Amino acid sequence: MSDVIRRDPRAERIARNRLHPLHQSLVGAATEQRGPTGLLRKDPRAGYFMGPNGLRRIDRSGASHPGAATRVQRGTGGGVSTEPTLPLHQVENPDNFIVCVLDMVGGRLTSHDKDVLGQAHILAKSSAQTTAVTAVVFGDHREEALDKAGVDRLIHFENSDANHYQGYCPEQKLAALQSVESQLAPGHWLFPDSIHGGADLGCRLAARIGERPANHAWQVDSENTICRGGSDRIDIKRQTPRILLLAEECAMPIDETRHEVLALDVEHLVTPDQHIQDLGAVDVDPSQIPLAEAEFILSAGNGVKDWDQFHDVASTLGATEGASRVAVDDGFMPRFRQVGATGIWVTARVYVAVGISGAIQHLQGIGQCEKVVAINTDPGCDMVKRADLTVIGKSQDILAELLRLYKERQSGVSDDSATLSDKTESDESVEDQNKEARRVA
Ligand SMILES: Cc1cc2nc3c(=O)[nH]c(=O)nc-3n(C[C@H](O)[C@H](O)[C@H](O)COP(=O)(O)OP(=O)(O)OC[C@H]3O[C@@H](n4cnc5c(N)ncnc54)[C@H](O)[C@@H]3O)c2cc1C
Repeated sequence: MSDVIRRDPRAERIARNRLHPLHQSLVGAATEQRGPTGLLRKDPRAGYFMGPNGLRRIDRSGASHPGAATRVQRGTGGGVSTEPTLPLHQVENPDNFIVCVLDMVGGRLTSHDKDVLGQAHILAKSSAQTTAVTAVVFGDHREEALDKAGVDRLIHFENSDANHYQGYCPEQKLAALQSVESQLAPGHWLFPDSIHGGADLGCRLAARIGERPANHAWQVDSENTICRGGSDRIDIKRQTPRILLLAEECAMPIDETRHEVLALDVEHLVTPDQHIQDLGAVDVDPSQIPLAEAEFILSAGNGVKDWDQFHDVASTLGATEGASRVAVDDGFMPRFRQVGATGIWVTARVYVAVGISGAIQHLQGIGQCEKVVAINTDPGCDMVKRADLTVIGKSQDILAELLRLYKERQSGVSDDSATLSDKTESDESVEDQNKEARRVA
């Protein structure tokens, strides 16, 4: 991954927002300066570059901008890699805790988890006590950005012989939460109101400790909470309770501070009831999963030329198939597979767009997707701008390579015939994508 250019969408967002506290550190001082009379002066030459034919062009990417180096980074070989250091938020000797029990699907923070942590900080700010936002994580996790997500204290219940937190084990988790309750007596308990365990665990804890939780809460302050009810048709206002099951987008995630993530030890005081036995996951045919609920979608557009290959890749990777409107209108995919403004709005954790240009109507439908991977021949198309990872090349070649790599990994046999020189930049990107795709699958 030597010279792959990596964009930093967060830094770009800060660079566009003149009111952001880190704005100046990213853009440098050159474009706007306060003149001797106190007036703000703009440098009209900044933000332009000379095009290949000698004409002056507006630089919409910001690449020629003084702070561009912080927004565009290169891989290990490129050298430039300066991320702005965020101010550290410290909480010393807290006398109150707001405990967030995170879903951590696949061992990583979900966007819902980040919203919950954002909401916890809103409550912490309005508290009269010194409050630490405390995350509870069960079992193994792979998250490295807990500090940037707003975790002041971390209670990590690790797997041991006595306590195992893999699979469906609400009784063990509930016992652990009861131990937290008895030792910390948190001011609030926050759970993501999700199908990934948050809603279930939140309700169990509320029943066990005799609290009445607020479900599907989407506007919360220290006094009042507004919850969605009646199939999302009505709002119910009530006093903010101790246990909150929060809806998605209840608050903005933390993105302007770093946090300490100091470990908190909690003793296991409560022995779990052992009534539930997890017999493991049941294989589900990905084509039977409704698009709106699918976690991993392989979506086809007008750039897909080999449809048999596309279906083959989708079933091999265990992906649910989606499509652009053009693919549907041309009769290659059924109407119920259409993603977008006039199709289905999807919320996949990984959305792979194969040969889809990224028209606004399509992008509207994937706004909630966590990671978007674009496979396209056009590096300038809108889907590439939206994507977290892009592979430039013909869909037929990339899908064939993806399939080859997947099968190779499955069989555990490395194909020695693929020489080093065959390994292109896009091969590496495909490997990344393959890893992510298989992780979710
Ligand atoms: C009222 C209205 C509602 C709409 N609603 C929706 C909607 O809900 N959903 C939706 O998707 N669209 C919708 N559309 C249509 C939308 O505007 C676009 O026309 C459509 O999304 C384009 O589909 P596409 O990206 O597959 O095709 P194209 O725009 O033709 O793009 C094809 C892409 O494939 C790439 N490509 C070509 N060959 C290859 C190859 N060999 N390998 C890899 N890449 C290749 C090209 O570079 C291009 O980026 C709507 C339009 C209107 C007017």
